[in-house]
Amino acid sequence: MTAVHLGMPAPLVSLAPRRRSRQLMVRDVPVGGDAPVSVQSMTTTVTADVDKTLQQIAELTASGCQIVRVAVPSQDDADALPVIARKSQIPVIADIHFQPKYVFAAIEAGCAAVRVNPGNIKKFDDKVKQIAAAAKDHGTPIRIGVNAGSLDPRLLAKYGKATPEALVESALWECSLFEEHGFTDIKISVKHHDPVVMINAYRQLAGQCDYPLHLGVTEAGPEFQGTVKSAVAFGALLAEGIGDTIRVSLSAPPVQECKVGIQILESLGLRERRLEIVSCPSCGRAQVDVYRLAEEVMAGLEGMEVPLRVAVMGCVVNGPGEAREADLGVASGNGKGQIFVKGEVIRTVPEHQIVTTLIDEAMKIAERMRDDGVASGEPQVTVS
Ligand code: SF4
Repeated sequence: MTAVHLGMPAPLVSLAPRRRSRQLMVRDVPVGGDAPVSVQSMTTTVTADVDKTLQQIAELTASGCQIVRVAVPSQDDADALPVIARKSQIPVIADIHFQPKYVFAAIEAGCAAVRVNPGNIKKFDDKVKQIAAAAKDHGTPIRIGVNAGSLDPRLLAKYGKATPEALVESALWECSLFEEHGFTDIKISVKHHDPVVMINAYRQLAGQCDYPLHLGVTEAGPEFQGTVKSAVAFGALLAEGIGDTIRVSLSAPPVQECKVGIQILESLGLRERRLEIVSCPSCGRAQVDVYRLAEEVMAGLEGMEVPLRVAVMGCVVNGPGEAREADLGVASGNGKGQIFVKGEVIRTVPEHQIVTTLIDEAMKIAERMRDDGVASGEPQVTVS
């Protein structure tokens, strides 16, 4: 196997092989199998407000979100689904709790998939036959989304709380009901707010079925805490090859969830890196303001659509080494910056010109990469 690398060095180490899962299509986005791990988010608008919901979906799409979920708590929301599903650029999943009638409405509306929470849908088990038939007719996948906070009361009684075993048993029980009716176009989530419980639940689930898995730490918290929890939990699972699609849940705007999700995948090498700033933490040896430089370079290059690694280093201890390894970098010292491009020093500039010089050079490199056919999000090309 020969790997042709477009602009990024090949990873020296790799993660565990991906768990083998069956693949399903969420409209035009494959989930499971050998499909890249996809990033999802959920709108925060009232779904019935079609304009606002489509506007938020457009913002999510622009930020790189690949699948979006919308809540359907009322008939007005259900009535809005056909237009939203048709006009959204990315597949729309309807999120249904409590009312089975909205499952059917979402399927009829042409949603790309439906998420059901078996723990809180009235007499869900009795409805499975009809849901399976309708979903099969329309080619609509179903996500069985078990949540610690709304676990099936039967399992809550059996296990005392939402243990990994309880979450997994709930999900697999519901799958078995769908399987009885010949329906297997299913993906599963078993979310918990505690990453340790969540990791264990997904590990168990991964060993007991081949359905694609949607990873999530539910109610992960405010932005900082939720980002850390999600990165830790997803990182542990994805490094083991577990997980086919991810949703970061933050008490923060959904675009932020999407950015964090993408960053997690990029950090693990599961998605082509775009802009990566390698900057030192600074210390008593720093001879420039590294924080400011890193922030200004990051801001100046935001939206960069080619994979570019930029090193911003505070002194000559590790500076030249890191700057040489990156596509572009600066090693600072004595109020000056040595600018490196592809390992070579191209010039030395005073501190106040470091940011503009890096941005100018980054633009030139990006132009060359684009001419060479390296585009945003394009994976490394592997030739068998
Ligand atoms: S590169 Fe220099 S300033 Fe930055 S952390 Fe290392 S020793 Fe400190």
